[in-house]
Order: sequence, then C-alpha cells, then structure tokens
Amino acid sequence: MTPTGGMRVVVALGGNALTGPDGDASPAAQQAAVELAMERVAELVAAGCEVVLTHGNGPQVGNLLTKNELAARVVPPVPLDWCVAQTQATIGFLVVTALERSLAARGLARPVAATVSRVLVDSADPAWRLPTKPIGRYVTEAEAREHTARGQTWEARGPRGWRRVVPSPEPRELLDREVVLALVDRGVVVVAAGGGGIPMVAEGGRLRAVEAVLDKDLSAALLAATVRAECLVIATDVEHAATGWGTPEQRPVGRVDPAGLRALAAAGHFASGSMGPKVEAAARFVEGGGRRAVITSLDRIAAAPAGAAGTVVEPAPARRAR
Ligand code: ADP
Ligand code: MG
Repeated sequence: MTPTGGMRVVVALGGNALTGPDGDASPAAQQAAVELAMERVAELVAAGCEVVLTHGNGPQVGNLLTKNELAARVVPPVPLDWCVAQTQATIGFLVVTALERSLAARGLARPVAATVSRVLVDSADPAWRLPTKPIGRYVTEAEAREHTARGQTWEARGPRGWRRVVPSPEPRELLDREVVLALVDRGVVVVAAGGGGIPMVAEGGRLRAVEAVLDKDLSAALLAATVRAECLVIATDVEHAATGWGTPEQRPVGRVDPAGLRALAAAGHFASGSMGPKVEAAARFVEGGGRRAVITSLDRIAAAPAGAAGTVVEPAPARRAR
C-alpha cells in the first residue's frame, strides 16, 4: 500500500451520505446520515490525510423547490441559485458540527469550515440550449404545462410523470479558490463547491448567478485540481463502477487508466445520470495530473487514497525510455 500520510484528498459525498435509507430527507435522517459519513471522513483525517469535502444536494434542492411552489402566493419564490446557496449552508453546518465531533472523539483538534462557493460557467456553453438535468418533484402533465407556459422546461419522464429539467453547464473555475486554498493551507478541513457550486456567468466584468445545476462530480474534479489534491475520492453507494451493470455479466472495474476507463464509458457501461459523471470526473482529474481517483462506497473511503478500495483510476505506467 502507498503511504497516505500528508496526502491531500478531495472527497465527494453522494446522496447516501446526506439522506437516510430510501432517500429519506427528513432533518433527522439527514443529520444521522451526515454523522455516519463524518465518522468515515474522520478516519481519513486520522490517517494523516488533508481532507477537502464536497457534496451533492439533489433531494435538498428538490425540497426547497417544492416549498417555493407551495408557498408562492405567500412568500416570493427564490431562484434555483439561491436554493443551491441555501443547501450549501444547511449541509455545511451539519457536516461541520458532525465532523468536529468525530475528530474530537479521536483527539484530533482540526478546525472545520464550510464555504459558500460559486463556480464560473460559460454563457456560451452548449448546455444552455439543451436542458438535461432533472430536478425537483414529479408532477402531472397539466401542471407541467402551466410551468412551461411560465418559461420553464418540463419533460415527460415515464410512469412517474413530468419533471423540470435545467441546463447543466461545465464547471469552469472555482470563484472562491483563494479563500478555499487559504483555509486548506492553514490545515482547516474545508467544505467547498457543495451541490456542484452556485453557477455564475461573467458579463461585462460582473458576475451574475444563473439558474442551472452543476454536476457535483464534475465540480469535485475541478475542486480537486484547484486545491492541487493528489487524490479524488468519489464516495457513493456502490463499491465499484461496474461493466455490464444490472446484467448477469456485471463485473467490478478495479485498477484502470483514464483511456481504459473512457473506452468502457464509450461502450455504454456507465449510466449518464449516475455513474457516468463519476467516471468522467475520475478520468479528467487523472488526465489533468492527479495521482489517483477512486470511485467507491462511503464505508470504504479510508482505504481509497492508498488505492486499496473501489475503482482506482491512475495514469498509465510511463513507457520506459530507451
Ligand atoms: P450519488 O448520489 O452517490 O452521486 P448516484 O445515485 O448518482 O450516486 O450514482 C450511483 C449509482 O449509479 C449506483 O447506486 C448505481 O445504481 C448506478 N450505476 C449506474 N451504472 C453503474 C455502473 N456501471 N456501475 C455501478 N453503478 C452504476
Ligand atoms: Mg444516489
């Protein structure tokens, strides 16, 4: 095993670290899930890793959107970017509180901080023309048509009904990088780019928030490159990315280089709304100079930086010079 002491590691937490079983998003279930997840994160810190955290926010934003709708006649609805900011704060405070406690229980006095983080996107991104990311609750066709008349994009998505879709542009730059780096360099365990970050465009020298959703795994790869992490760990609810997922030929992907992983992705092995972006994020991070990216289950993350768990993406061994 590679020694991991002193290794800077970005950990991206998925839905199972933030909600209860069956996606239960009640406050008690969210808090319990975060507390369990922070026990695993504390093990990484105890192993000597410098940890930077990021997280998803799908169910939490979904709940805020529903509140927006139901309360629209009483309280002015807030835009999607406000909802992302609100979830960064709420999830951030749960993470900070739980991780402080798990660290203290191990005798580790490390400060923990959550940041409100904005991520720059390109106003010319092709994603603006093709909203693809489903958000919020399912509604009937009649209700979806009302929302469509008010300018939103809604799509029929099978037997459960219609769902709003929004653009998911490429995360380009962590706008709060100086703050995040200053904290990380001071030994603070930082939470950044939560929910993929609040998407912003630059127009005539001014930043403006936009209604879009950034993919948390792609933003995690950007965050990892920005803080010059050696390892990106994508913590989800399966131990490996697999080929032949859901078929009798299902096989875990173990150690692989980015080109090998991309070849499997091109052959259609990874579903676009779930494993696809994790695989893309892992490949990008390593192609961009990262030492290792690991996709594994939350309970295996302590073994991930050493490459001893999950799907381990590493550069192809350099060809020997002649
Ligand atoms: P998270 O909330 O952690 O970001 P997702 O639910 O988006 O996680 O993605 C993880 C899920 O991806 C797994 O639970 C599994 O159902 C699904 N999945 C799709 N294709 C694959 C695959 N090829 N290998 C493993 N899991 C896959
Ligand atoms: Mg999930």
